[in-house]
Amino acid sequence: MNKENWYCIGMKILVATGNAHKKIELSQIFNSHEILTPEDIGIVGFDFEETESTFLGNSLGKAQALWELIQDRTDASDYAVLADDSGLAVAALDGAPGIYSARYGSDVFGRMLESPERNSYLLKNMEGLTDRRAFFVCCMSLILDEYRVYTIQEQFDGQIIEEEIGTGGFGYDPIFYLPEYRKTVAQLPADLKNRISHRGKAGLKLATLL
Ligand code: IMP
Repeated sequence: MNKENWYCIGMKILVATGNAHKKIELSQIFNSHEILTPEDIGIVGFDFEETESTFLGNSLGKAQALWELIQDRTDASDYAVLADDSGLAVAALDGAPGIYSARYGSDVFGRMLESPERNSYLLKNMEGLTDRRAFFVCCMSLILDEYRVYTIQEQFDGQIIEEEIGTGGFGYDPIFYLPEYRKTVAQLPADLKNRISHRGKAGLKLATLL
């Protein structure tokens, strides 16, 4: 298929993630396109080791790895490839957990933590700290073809509160408080989160390119 002509119709966007929550958010953000994971097209066990020191390096590396993986398929040209590397940076912790957000605490506990455990661990590390400023970062990379590669990085400011509130969203959302809404991100309707979040802002800008 000639990709010059398919930007105006619903594109198939293959996302380099196995995170079901991210797939849902990306489907809502890119709502006029079809979001697919590697598993959806029969690729089992796609994994990318995030060894870079920046969100940008990991995001682009992840997108390129998946792009290369599909090139020997006959339907490769049907897909654009999208990767999202994101995380939480806490000012009083010098930007931690940052690029290690998904793995935060695993060095101490010897295993990957579930989100509520990770949130408790972060709150424990912030005990007594009065500076609660934090922000989410999302770097998104989109590969349309070998020569058309786009990346965009966005930020979402808030504060870390002292206990979990709310049941929506995922990850650190229940402890990420937005003073202007007097709510945590886990208390926001999904469509609002998708307009104002790091992922939402990056995705909406990338979607204008399609
Ligand atoms: P990665 O981008 O898959 O490396 O992981 C990012 C990690 O950052 C996730 O596992 C979450 O813990 C956290 N994170 C990223 N975006 C969000 C968000 O929108 N809400 C809550 N946590 C997030």
